[in-house]
Amino acid sequence: MKIDKTISAILDRALEGTAPSREDCRTMLDCAATSQEAGMIRGVADGISRQRFGNEGIILGQIGIEIDACPGQCKFCSFGEEHTDFEPSTMTIEEIMDAAERFTMSGDLYALFLMTMHKFQFDRLVDVVRTIRDRMPDQPQIVVNIGDFDRCQADGLRDAGVNGAYHVCRLREGEDTALDPEERKRTIRTIKDAGLDWYYCCEPIGPEHRSEELVDQLFLGVDYGCFQHAAMRRVYLPNSPLAARGQITDLRLAQITAVVSLASLGSPETKNIAVHEPNLIGLSSGANVVYAESGANPRDTEKDTSQHRGRDIQACKTMLYEAGFDHLLTAPAKRRSLLDAFRD
Ligand code: SF4
Repeated sequence: MKIDKTISAILDRALEGTAPSREDCRTMLDCAATSQEAGMIRGVADGISRQRFGNEGIILGQIGIEIDACPGQCKFCSFGEEHTDFEPSTMTIEEIMDAAERFTMSGDLYALFLMTMHKFQFDRLVDVVRTIRDRMPDQPQIVVNIGDFDRCQADGLRDAGVNGAYHVCRLREGEDTALDPEERKRTIRTIKDAGLDWYYCCEPIGPEHRSEELVDQLFLGVDYGCFQHAAMRRVYLPNSPLAARGQITDLRLAQITAVVSLASLGSPETKNIAVHEPNLIGLSSGANVVYAESGANPRDTEKDTSQHRGRDIQACKTMLYEAGFDHLLTAPAKRRSLLDAFRD
């Protein structure tokens, strides 16, 4: 059986440092996830990523600090106000600090994420950030995963100690969500203008998304120059409005992760690639980032994901080790041996 010549040519160019075009990415995404071409795409993306990022893995930890019926009404999320089963709740500052300490005590975490609903109390969030920064002056990086915000708020967050923000214009934003795609993009530009690291993702991917849609959405991260690119599948939640559309396999997610990783060769600002939820196929297809999770999680049906879907730091380290990474990046320009991280 011969390898498709178009795919071979795209991969040869990538190995020489030329990022695939949109058309190239569409062609790669059109391959069946079980095809030998998809296997080659994943293998080449893996080799390029390991060289590009020095075979370093990164562990990030997210704390969902509150739960509420969310006006974002995302049809794939546990918290959408028209279908959520959750009662509102907010973690106290001491509960947040306990979770932050569990994530940071080993010294292996690169960044701590604080997640809220689409609507959030800005002043409280700033207080939380200041408290973490006061009690943990040297580590970790702090990243927010919150609703849309303006430049004044971005400056306020940065001045309080925030280093970055996760913000996405999702697949079918405005159709599968009640949010305005233009407002999402405005916030992304605000994040960049404020000098914060911008974390992006091709998400939430379901079986219904065509290659063209995936390409349009993932190239926003390339064109705007994200610090982190990623791919995330939509997790099947039985009570969510999109449950009937089902869920893609880890193998298809890994193929999309590989295409994201290759496309991001066109963005010098991209410093790492994530796969959500983390898995070994994705981590051997171009991704090098694993998230630990605690508190609220839009992909979970439990109030505290650390008791259910969420991984802890030790599980993240194990997964990176099993995927063949030999170092951890624990802060910008600070790396340590993964084996040493196990011994401590
Ligand atoms: S994904 Fe975020 S914005 Fe959308 S409903 Fe869930 S919490 Fe709200």
